[in-house]
Amino acid sequence: MEMTLDIAVETTSSSRIHEVDFDNIQFGRSFSDHQYIVDFDGENWVNPRVVPYGKVEMSPAISAIHYGQSIFEGMKAYKDREGNAQLFRPLENWKRLNRSARRMGMQEIPEEFFMEGLRTLLETDSAWIPSKPGSSLYLRPFMFATDDFIGVRPSSTYTFMIFSCPVNAYYNQPLKVKAETHYIRAAEGGVGAAKCAGNYGSVMMPAKKAQDEGYSQIMWLDAREHQYIEETGTTNLFIRIGDKLITPSTEKGTILEGITRDSIIQLVKHWGWDFEERPISIHEVRDAFKNGTLKEIFASGTAATVAQIELIHFEGEDIQLGGLDTWEWYGKVRLAMEQIKTGQIEDQFNWIYKL
Ligand SMILES: *Cc1c(COP(=O)(O)O)cnc(C)c1O
Repeated sequence: MEMTLDIAVETTSSSRIHEVDFDNIQFGRSFSDHQYIVDFDGENWVNPRVVPYGKVEMSPAISAIHYGQSIFEGMKAYKDREGNAQLFRPLENWKRLNRSARRMGMQEIPEEFFMEGLRTLLETDSAWIPSKPGSSLYLRPFMFATDDFIGVRPSSTYTFMIFSCPVNAYYNQPLKVKAETHYIRAAEGGVGAAKCAGNYGSVMMPAKKAQDEGYSQIMWLDAREHQYIEETGTTNLFIRIGDKLITPSTEKGTILEGITRDSIIQLVKHWGWDFEERPISIHEVRDAFKNGTLKEIFASGTAATVAQIELIHFEGEDIQLGGLDTWEWYGKVRLAMEQIKTGQIEDQFNWIYKL
């Protein structure tokens, strides 16, 4: 893409890169040296800039804090075998950010302010992209409402930012999840499909409760009947019953449309697997477990990559899967996704974006 924007770059005089132990990275704890910022002043996106990572000044009255107009994305940069930086489907993140913006009554961001900011930030912090297998630079684009006005109405001003963190895979253990029959994450007509901050805030308490009971995550069920499987709140879900792969359909707008999910769907269709995108109830999964046809369950997301789910707790019973080392479909999907993202196999879907 042509450079169309003039982005001011102020580099740090003291890089913190030597403080990071790249062999032992904890997810989301160390931040690269710089951040990208651009403001919407009510009429235009103005003053795109890359500055040293750090605090941003804001009024205590900004409406993001009080009324929750706050959305984000999550994406990863990798190094290919020659050490060049590359991104996985970044335009999908840009499009989804704007879908979230529309649902939340926020300002959409033009492609160049998203993509050129991303590119300039990555050029400035390219030394922060890890090259060790399984690690990457996690990028966090986000937008929040900045009007300092406490009347309730959509903000007229916004800030969009990107910062980044070197990371390893989010989960390194198979997950145990609790199918939640009391609390809900999203309802039809609500904001479940938007990547908005409030979707996370509202499930902190039930998720903490589940963690205290020994589960890594909640498996969210639909709000109306508490039986159709949705997602975990950070990942989408795939379930293998017999020789069919099933993922919950997103048409009700209660499930976040993961880019990893979409990529896996395209892959398995290309491979010719028996695949269905449809409502799937926890009862169907439990029945399949009881009759021995439940084979594999896995979660998908940018942070989590592809992760095994070994146990679902549902109404006092454990649906517990064994033979984790032999999960063929999980293994194939995970490997292919990894190899495509790092340029080890041909990118036949045109998913890789070279910087
Ligand atoms: C981001 C997210 C996912 C995963 O989406 P990817 O694009 O694959 O990273 C799943 N569920 C929720 C609620 C999310 O916010």
